[in-house]
Amino acid sequence: MTTPTKEFDVKKIREDFPILNRQVNGKNLIYFDNGATTQKPQAMLDKVSEYYSNLNSNVHRGVHTLSQLATTEYENARETVRKFFNAKSTNEIIFTKGTTDSINLAAYTLGKKFVNEGDEILITEMEHHSNIVPWQMLAEERGAKLKYIPLTDAAELDYSKLDELITEKTKIVSIVHVSNSLGTLNDIEKVIEKAHSVGAKVVIDGAQAIQHFAVDVQRLDCDMYCFSGHKLYGPLGIGILYGKEDLLDQLPPYQGGGEMISEVTMEKTTYNTLPYKYEAGTPNIVGAIGLAASIDYLNSIGMEAINHYEDELLGYSEQKLDAIEGIIRYSKAKVRKSILPFNFEGVYHYDLGLFLDKFGIAVRTGHHCCQPVMQRYDIQGTIRASFSFYNTKEEIDELVTALEKSLAVLR
Ligand code: PMP
Repeated sequence: MTTPTKEFDVKKIREDFPILNRQVNGKNLIYFDNGATTQKPQAMLDKVSEYYSNLNSNVHRGVHTLSQLATTEYENARETVRKFFNAKSTNEIIFTKGTTDSINLAAYTLGKKFVNEGDEILITEMEHHSNIVPWQMLAEERGAKLKYIPLTDAAELDYSKLDELITEKTKIVSIVHVSNSLGTLNDIEKVIEKAHSVGAKVVIDGAQAIQHFAVDVQRLDCDMYCFSGHKLYGPLGIGILYGKEDLLDQLPPYQGGGEMISEVTMEKTTYNTLPYKYEAGTPNIVGAIGLAASIDYLNSIGMEAINHYEDELLGYSEQKLDAIEGIIRYSKAKVRKSILPFNFEGVYHYDLGLFLDKFGIAVRTGHHCCQPVMQRYDIQGTIRASFSFYNTKEEIDELVTALEKSLAVLR
């Protein structure tokens, strides 16, 4: 495992990620699709393998040794997550399948408790479909109105509209921390404060934030915060819903089943205490333990060092790509994080993505599950390079060379 150093030793860090050694189409893999999912450190892979080889059993219900060991590891993982983004209590940490699952849980429970006919839910024009569709479904079911904070031409939220949009009718505000399609870091503190002034609850989609800088949910004072383990160098199929304990205590359960109950008779059920009230069925035990291993790994590097290095990398990539003739860059906000969306005049994004793959370069093309953003810019999609702390300036130079070669053919 990498030990913390003052110098950011990217060469050494890369040795921790076995997949970075592989070749794609005869070239060294250059992985710039970190917004979609991140690659996995050996420390996490070892932990998952060790769990299945040495510890595998079900949690919470067993008196036998393996079950007790697995339960301890699972609950230790919850504590690791709590500490990572400074929640007050492990009762506030719910293991889910991922961001999408967490937002659906939030919409269902908050909706049932707080949203009635004529009420309003506020989201933004830059949301991922995961943070649009569950609210549309809720609004339709409850007869509520869904409103959007619009985007400015500078790819930022139009905060001047907040006073008009957040009123006594607003019950829930749900907003992305960092946009996956534009890279914008939103001023969520401003939105949270305004929403709380009318008593609305605030949900944050942290899917593209938590892996890039230190998040402190108590300082933010958000009511809920959602993220996916697989974007935080952890396993697939695990995610987090953070919710303030007094809020989660008031909310109804989401899914019914084993583990979330206190007592079941044929007539009725009483529910378990937090966090188990929201973890029906056998949880993703290995996912939680693997996620904790990834967080331990990230802590060994330090989120501040990661943030600093990734900002430097993004700045370098913008400077290099802006110099290529005909580039249209969509990330224009004052504060941006690790995401570089662009197009070239007269070139279809998908074709360019296919060409880059021939150079072993993985980027994402398309609408990035943000069709309203694409509609705002009147485009079908973009090419998105998204960076991690294991990427290098040399890889960005190779991207520039590959783009120039591809454009010479495609134009
Ligand atoms: N929100 C944002 C901003 C995202 O980038 C993503 C993943 N692309 C999601 C939500 C959904 O995450 P998941 O598919 O892991 O549930």
